Amino acid sequence: MSKILIVEDEKSISTIIAFNLKKEGFETDEALDGITGLDKALSGEHDLILLDVMLPGMDGFEILRRLREKSRVPVIMVTAREEETDKILGLDTGADDYVTKPFSVRELISRVKANIRRSAVTAAPADAPAQNSDRQTFGDIAVDKKLQAVYKNGVQMELSQREYELICYFLESPDRVISREELMEKVWGYEYYGDLRAVDVAMRRLREKLEDDPAEPKYILTRRGAGYYLNSGK
Ligand code: CA
Repeated sequence: MSKILIVEDEKSISTIIAFNLKKEGFETDEALDGITGLDKALSGEHDLILLDVMLPGMDGFEILRRLREKSRVPVIMVTAREEETDKILGLDTGADDYVTKPFSVRELISRVKANIRRSAVTAAPADAPAQNSDRQTFGDIAVDKKLQAVYKNGVQMELSQREYELICYFLESPDRVISREELMEKVWGYEYYGDLRAVDVAMRRLREKLEDDPAEPKYILTRRGAGYYLNSGK
C-alpha cells in the first residue's frame, strides 16, 4: 500500500485530501507545519509527498531543496498563487508535478497515481519490458534504455527523469508530429486539464540540454500549431 505524506497547514484541506486518498486505498500521514513536514519527508517512509508552498516554519520550496539533497521521492507541489506556479515552472526546483488551488479532488488523485506509477517504473528498470534494442541513436545522440542514459557525442547527459521519458517517447515514433496534449497524457500520465505550460517548459529545457543551438533546434522540431517531432534525419 502506498503511503502519502500531506504537508499542509490548513487542517480542513489536509483532512479532505487524506479522506479521499484513503478512500482510494492509500495510507496517509500529515504534517501541519514546515519543520515537521521536512522531518517526516526525510524519514523515507513515504511513496509520494504533497507539499504546500506557504507553510509556517519553512516554506515548501526550502523543504523541497533540502529534501532533494537526500531523496528522489516524488513531490507534487500545491500552489495557491500564480507566482508560485511560475516559480515551479521557471526554476529547476526538483518538483515532479504541481497542482494549483483550488483543485478538484479527482485531478489530485489522478496526479498522485500517475506520479507513483512513474516512480515505480523508474525504481525497477530491471522489471521493465524488454526493449527490442537497448541502444538507439539519432544524430549525435544515443539513448541506452538498459542504463536509462542519454549520450551526446559519447558524453552522458544530465537529464531529469521526465526529460529522459520525453526522449524515449519521441524515439518510439521518429518524425511523427506529437501534440502537446498527447505528451501530457502519455509522458506525464494524466488527462489534459487545460494547462499545457508544463509541456512547453519541459520541452524548452530539454532543447537547452540537447541542442547545439536551442534557437535553431535540429533534433526536436516544432510543427507550428501541431506539436513537436523528433527529426531522425532520414
Ligand atoms: Ca498553506
